[in-house]
Amino acid sequence: MDAKTTTSDTQRRIIDAIDDAFDRQIETTKQFSSIPSTRGAEGPCQDMMGDLLRARGYEVDDWHIDTKDLKDLRGYGPIEHDFSKARTVVGTYRPAREAGRSLILQGHCDVVPAGPLDMWDTPPFTPTVKDGWLYGRGAGDMKSGTIAALYALDALRAAGLRPTARIHFQSVIEEESTGVGALSTVQRGYRADCCFIPEPTNGKLVRSQVGVIWFRLKVRGKPVHVFEAGAGANAIKAAYHLVQALEVLEEEWNRRAASDRHFKVVKHPINFNPGIIKGGDWASSVPAWCDLDCRIAVLPGWSIADHQAEIVACVEAAAKKHPFLAKNPPAVEWSGFLSEGYELTDAGEPEAVLRSVHETVCGGPMKELAFTALTDTRFYGLNAGIPSLCYGATAEAMHGFNERVEIESLRKTTRAIALFVAGWCGVEAA
Ligand SMILES: [Zn+2]
Repeated sequence: MDAKTTTSDTQRRIIDAIDDAFDRQIETTKQFSSIPSTRGAEGPCQDMMGDLLRARGYEVDDWHIDTKDLKDLRGYGPIEHDFSKARTVVGTYRPAREAGRSLILQGHCDVVPAGPLDMWDTPPFTPTVKDGWLYGRGAGDMKSGTIAALYALDALRAAGLRPTARIHFQSVIEEESTGVGALSTVQRGYRADCCFIPEPTNGKLVRSQVGVIWFRLKVRGKPVHVFEAGAGANAIKAAYHLVQALEVLEEEWNRRAASDRHFKVVKHPINFNPGIIKGGDWASSVPAWCDLDCRIAVLPGWSIADHQAEIVACVEAAAKKHPFLAKNPPAVEWSGFLSEGYELTDAGEPEAVLRSVHETVCGGPMKELAFTALTDTRFYGLNAGIPSLCYGATAEAMHGFNERVEIESLRKTTRAIALFVAGWCGVEAA
């Protein structure tokens, strides 16, 4: 049967199968979320995902990412840490008979650091269900979404159905710092008629998302004993001076954003964040160095190279006004994301299928979102011309303390993914 003839009876069987397995789905989500897969430590997550896919009979491709293969591709961001264990895992389903439209389902398994543990109510890597929410680092962003996609496919099988098109189930790393994991799947040749990424979007479709630039300011000072601080130059204070200049640039970019057709309704879509500061060696020595890692957003259609040049010009101009930096200019290094924004403009058919299943599952029209963070959809959309949908559950405190996902919204998301696969790929009796 194809999308048009998928009956509500079939949909009912799929939804029942999701409900039957939902407790197991939550258990698997907890297990997956208990792995502290911060940057560089995603290996055990990829092992678990490989096992889950193999146990279900998918053809598994598990490879080491070589940045040499990626560095010249659109959207590549430089990697600075040990990348020798970096892997991508893809499970492929191939139908006996290709009759429908193919699909990439993607999730990222990397998570951001948990921060001071004493500020969590329950430990970040001990996933805990409380009052209808699942708490844990990565429970929202986005391990629950990845496992939901896996169980959505399981539900089709349990309902006695099999998709009639190729499906690639892709588990990637580096979503939180460069996007190189998703880029590696594009480089490896994975393609489909549509991509679906179940990041937590509160049941909305991401219509437009920002891009992100990461950069590091390397600021120098002149070290002296603090008793004669006036004879030295304090690199940490000089970094403040540069931050103030970059805040002016941030406001200028936000003024430009006011004419963007999707972001004009968003208050302050361009956020500049000095995120990591390191500097100095001794409390009684005027610091001779300060490294400041920063993030700033750009909008869809804004050139990364042009905006890199603006950042450099802003830092240079501010340095010229500073007594020490004028003669000792700071360096700007690119330290991760060099990512364009992405606007979903070309998703006619897949979007129509998602709208329809959203209405079935949620009982009302699907809303849209101009998203002030990025997702991996950009690589499929911009590099490979694959319309890429981002849609998922309700989460709170992503990247914060007590990150959590609402369990009933996760059930709805799982239903929506399963019905989307049935509608998009088509299903037949197994
Ligand atoms: Zn995410």
